[in-house]
Amino acid sequence: MLCPKCQSRMSKAAFQSVEVDRCEGCGGLWFDILEHEDLKKLKGAERALDTGSPDLGREMNQIRRIDCPVCRTGMVSLHVPDQPHIVVEQCAVCHGVFMDAGEFRDFVHRTPLDLLRDLFADEEA
Ligand SMILES: [Zn+2]
Ligand SMILES: [Zn+2]
Repeated sequence: MLCPKCQSRMSKAAFQSVEVDRCEGCGGLWFDILEHEDLKKLKGAERALDTGSPDLGREMNQIRRIDCPVCRTGMVSLHVPDQPHIVVEQCAVCHGVFMDAGEFRDFVHRTPLDLLRDLFADEEA
């Protein structure tokens, strides 16, 4: 599969039993239907999978008109409910979601309190 934003190769990245595709160029992540919601519930998924540069992610976030890498349909960009500062691209046909590097970390850390909890969790580990 090729990245819908930068056309680099995407390779498989797995966390526990969930497998996503990660772009080797821009670090963007491809989630099949609801995978991002499943992964959000798994502790540490964002650190394991969203390893790209958030700076590059912000640059790639400017690219909004892309075709779904799975079914080739034009994707829709939408603001994440509850976190309107995050804009992701979603396919209306297969419901896959593309997140730029850094967006999945942001998506998982809903509030500053969550961020704090994560910091403490790191110290305990
Ligand atoms: Zn890419
Ligand atoms: Zn699609």
